[in-house]
Amino acid sequence: MKITRILAYRVELPLHEGSYKWSGGKSVSVFDSTIVRVETDVGLVGHGEVCPLGPFYLPAYAEGVRAGLRELGPHLIGWDPRELAKLNHRMDAALKGHPYVKSGVDIACWDILGQASGLPVCVLMGGRFGENVRLYRAISQEEPEVMAKKVAGYRAAGYTRFQLKVGGDPDMDIARIRAVRAMIQTTDRLVADANTGWTQHEAMRVVRAVRDVDVYIEQPCLTYEECLAVRRHTDHPFVLDENVDSLDMLLRAKADLAMDVVNLKISKLGGLTKTKQARDLCVSMGIAMTLEDSWGGDVTTAAIAHLAHSTPEEFRFTSTDFNSYVTVSTAEGAPQRVNGFMSASTAPGLGIQPKPAVLGPPVLEIS
Ligand code: MG
Repeated sequence: MKITRILAYRVELPLHEGSYKWSGGKSVSVFDSTIVRVETDVGLVGHGEVCPLGPFYLPAYAEGVRAGLRELGPHLIGWDPRELAKLNHRMDAALKGHPYVKSGVDIACWDILGQASGLPVCVLMGGRFGENVRLYRAISQEEPEVMAKKVAGYRAAGYTRFQLKVGGDPDMDIARIRAVRAMIQTTDRLVADANTGWTQHEAMRVVRAVRDVDVYIEQPCLTYEECLAVRRHTDHPFVLDENVDSLDMLLRAKADLAMDVVNLKISKLGGLTKTKQARDLCVSMGIAMTLEDSWGGDVTTAAIAHLAHSTPEEFRFTSTDFNSYVTVSTAEGAPQRVNGFMSASTAPGLGIQPKPAVLGPPVLEIS
């Protein structure tokens, strides 16, 4: 089997809530997502999606996905999409770095491998663990009472895991954490994700001020060293995200006992192949994971569901259903949230069928 053509579509994904705000005053109101279509000489077609969280979250931006594919795509024509290690080796030889550019192609090739073998991606990635995947809801940064009210609403919709966007004014963040924790049950999990937004002394103040609160602290500061310093002064469960973008960093953080949970995002690591490698290593090392991506719609949510569903339940901290945050549906067959849970499709591949009318004409075609 050979790759004969690679297409890319640009889709805008507006948010039901109007906007999504996090640390440092950053916000997005309409996500710019790229859906990648990989075609083969046997008629099988696979899809992937890459949607950066704006241009200021990770070293990734929406137009960069398309520019990168323009550079990378010609090197992949004629290669077998089912040979994923070879394909990733080829991508890394043709384009140094830029993992997010490669992510959509890699996901699309897993979709093709699944269709070619008649198996869902989660089965190929190790097997389906448990009935379903528990979801968290990210809560956009607002005034404390507004965030608490939103959490109450999402709790009524079935969510029991909440990730608060903090990383703003530390005193306001302390109020945010306290206001939300007071709204939820003791069995619910709360994460305060600062998204690198606090300086070290601010983070130290916050963790001390909420010492009596049952809350996880995620990526308080910009650098790994600052996060490690905070980690060593708090007994809150600790999550690293932005700093862990490679196996090297994962191994370093494990050796330093720098985290209890790590956040693995598919496009941050460069696709399902590399995220599976990190995931499997975390399982071997006993580290629980948030399994997700930077953002996306139906295709990304399907990929997350297969990644999460093929992970042992005790190592799944949370995942999220990005397709429920946005107003546009780009594919049939994507996972739908039921009472705070989703499931990976049982159909071959990712189990999704993109909607041509929503995708529109391709913005990029490589053959
Ligand atoms: Mg995070």
